[in-house]
Amino acid sequence: MTADNREKLAVQDWPGRADVVIVGGGIVGCAAAMFLSRYKATVVMVEQATDLAMGTTKANSGIIHAGFDAPPGSMKARMNVRGNRLYHELQPALKYEVNFLGSLVVAKSDDDLKTLEGLLDRGRQNGVPDITIIDRERVLSREPNLSRDVRAGLWAPTAGVIWPFGAALAMAENAVRNGVKVFTGCRLEGFMLDRRKICGVRTNKGDIACKLVINAAGRWADEVSRWAGDDSFSITPRRGEYILFDKSVGSLVNSVLFPTPTKVSKGILVSPTVHGNIFIGPNAENITDKDDLSTTAPGMEEIISGARKLIPDLPLAAAITQFVGLRPVASGDDFIIGPSALVGGLVQAAGIQSPGLASAPAIGELVSEIAAERLGLVRKPGYVEENPDRPAFAELDSRQRQELIARNPLYGRIICRCETVSEGEIVAAIHSPVGARTVDGVKRRTRAGMGRCQGGFCGPRVVGILARELGLPLDAIVKEGPGSQLFFARQTLRGGESHE
Ligand SMILES: Cc1cc2nc3c(=O)[nH]c(=O)nc-3n(C[C@H](O)[C@H](O)[C@H](O)COP(=O)(O)OP(=O)(O)OC[C@H]3O[C@@H](n4cnc5c(N)ncnc54)[C@H](O)[C@@H]3O)c2cc1C
Repeated sequence: MTADNREKLAVQDWPGRADVVIVGGGIVGCAAAMFLSRYKATVVMVEQATDLAMGTTKANSGIIHAGFDAPPGSMKARMNVRGNRLYHELQPALKYEVNFLGSLVVAKSDDDLKTLEGLLDRGRQNGVPDITIIDRERVLSREPNLSRDVRAGLWAPTAGVIWPFGAALAMAENAVRNGVKVFTGCRLEGFMLDRRKICGVRTNKGDIACKLVINAAGRWADEVSRWAGDDSFSITPRRGEYILFDKSVGSLVNSVLFPTPTKVSKGILVSPTVHGNIFIGPNAENITDKDDLSTTAPGMEEIISGARKLIPDLPLAAAITQFVGLRPVASGDDFIIGPSALVGGLVQAAGIQSPGLASAPAIGELVSEIAAERLGLVRKPGYVEENPDRPAFAELDSRQRQELIARNPLYGRIICRCETVSEGEIVAAIHSPVGARTVDGVKRRTRAGMGRCQGGFCGPRVVGILARELGLPLDAIVKEGPGSQLFFARQTLRGGESHE
């Protein structure tokens, strides 16, 4: 089957009508989809990228903040504290990778000590559980590599680190299991309106008549809102740069380490990732181009010198990559969540900058409650809470591996040697409810290609598996999305052998 035929088949399932359309398949859209799937309603989520969670959800610090930063009474404070609790509660059913290892704000001066007292007070007003200030000795016994001039720390045990893509995907999979339709490569391009009330959306794949739209379009939420007739806010991208370190230095820090915060950000931090690496960053720079994902030399210097204030002996030789994330900062600075005052049927989930990842389940819960109330939705009997277990071969003991291979021999073929990923896992990732369609989609779902050789060995084998499982020719398989083809021509070598 050709890529065109697949596309046509996919669009045959096109829903001409829905109760709710969610625009944007980042962590916020996915959380909204999951909570809405608990109701009796036709729900469609449209995402312009080839895969879910490719916007700001893809590149951030991955921290489930405890919730002491935002001013009491703000939407950010409310959503962060509730979101943190929901991440603890939802994990056993959704099975995303998260580690609640706690966070520490480090004070080194008299001014810093005053800031810690202020954050403690804010945290208590916001309802953050078990937050406390600990003395120098306790700080250093937790974090022996920390700068010796530390005076005290604000300890928040409910904070954690998460794999943002995995969390978004787990929520989207749960939504699809419960009836939500997800369309990737599907860009919302306009609205159908009846006297300033939404009655449908226009997309590059067709129109959908609907009663309500949830705007979870991240950096483009102002544009989407304007198309519907609500120009009450604008979004500025705020760049944050990072350096990621190899797992060999993964024991450098044990919890998320912050300096005291600045006016625009939580400062440059040093933190473990959920997969056992360490990262430093981000800085915070307002820019104009919403697509500018370039790292800068001054940015790198800024985050290295910032991180050295926490960990003086930074093992720079173990740095493996740099990356950038763009915060969608709304005019007004707080999250914009709730019904539009200007357009009927439009519910905003906009300006979701940090702590948007930590807040996402709470935002999803809130917008779904607003939609349910507006449309008079009732709960669905038979809602399936649990995502199925998906075994990760690398984490199994030898008896479990033998049992798995006996059930499905594909688990006995290791495709990615660096990360020990089997063919069985790759096939499962392709056929899951929101399945991988690209080489990078397989990488993000299974870790195949994330190791030292960065896919040099397993990449071609993953292409072959994708082509076989999707029934596509090899040259229809792309790395990420449009413009990332891996094969350009067929070459005939001496002897008549043909190669892509
Ligand atoms: C440097 C940095 C560090 C951060 N660190 C943290 C942290 O540690 N903890 C934390 O809680 N938060 C953090 N955040 C914030 C967090 O990453 C975001 O709040 C969160 O990812 C926002 O998710 P979203 O779903 O709203 O946006 P996105 O992930 O950007 O999703 C929006 C989606 O909408 C799609 N879209 C846009 N327009 C259209 C259209 N017309 N049609 C169809 N689809 C469309 C986009 O393609 C995109 O996929 C950080 C952010 C940055 C940049």
